[in-house]
Amino acid sequence: MDYQAILNLIERELTPDIKLGKVASYIPQLAKVDPLKFGVYLYCHDSTSYQFGDSQEKFSIQSISKVFTLIIAKELLGKDLWKRVHVEPSGTAFNSLTELERDQGIPRNPFINAGSIVVADTLLSALDHPKEDLLKFVQKLCGDDSISYNEAVAASEKAHGYRNKALVNYMKALGNIDNDPDDVLNFYFYQCSIVMSCEQLSKTFMLLANEGRHYKTQEQVIDPQSVKRINSIMQTCGFYDEAGEFSYRVGLPGKSGVGGGIVAVHPKHYSVAVWSPMLNSKGNSALGMKALERLTTLTGLSIF
Ligand code: GLU
Repeated sequence: MDYQAILNLIERELTPDIKLGKVASYIPQLAKVDPLKFGVYLYCHDSTSYQFGDSQEKFSIQSISKVFTLIIAKELLGKDLWKRVHVEPSGTAFNSLTELERDQGIPRNPFINAGSIVVADTLLSALDHPKEDLLKFVQKLCGDDSISYNEAVAASEKAHGYRNKALVNYMKALGNIDNDPDDVLNFYFYQCSIVMSCEQLSKTFMLLANEGRHYKTQEQVIDPQSVKRINSIMQTCGFYDEAGEFSYRVGLPGKSGVGGGIVAVHPKHYSVAVWSPMLNSKGNSALGMKALERLTTLTGLSIF
């Protein structure tokens, strides 16, 4: 498969559409990004890699971080985690309050904000140094110690995260948050502020394309059964209330963030990350979705 030729074609085809969508502005710091950034990095099972554009520039991974915290929480809590958060697609916006009320404070899945806030709460209880431990985990998976939090993004979100404050307080009232809500949110805002490049993301997510093994050392980090579970949740819940659309168009499990990043994995084949900050009305990178749709169409490869 000539992945580089396919990526070059995708870049040529899609660059004219680069102005589709809108950069996220509800976190003011995110609005400062150059909207015309566009990059892809694809890391293959055989250790070859292919890329174009701004694939090595770091950006705010936002909700993509929800996969990392879920992996850790699932390892630490096992099945008990599912008493606190379910695994059903939501069909409503990622920060919906009405859904949480209907679900009596048990979030629909770990990738909507309420669900990831519960996951953050479990890590706060289970880890001595949650912030440091999360960063170390991501750095280890990537094999890159330079991965860091972005203080300005975390502070910006803290100053404007009124909906998230409402979600955590509502869940606290219903008994689904153990720690102090401000501490939980503080950790949650930090996890969302992690900055990584497409290259770093695709290498890190190889864990989920490589049966739970580290892409470089081949160390078994999580077992293949856990990979199955996490990938299933990404497939059904990874794209806000557009998970069905992404699944239909791309045919791979993945996760997006409002920073304009999307990561998708094709187990035993590759892990791919794309970044284009302009979002569609559902909060997913408009060009990113198109790029991945073209990738699975042009390669003729998807999980289906
Ligand atoms: N930090 C963002 C929020 O909580 C994450 C949103 C996202 O990327 O989906 O609103």
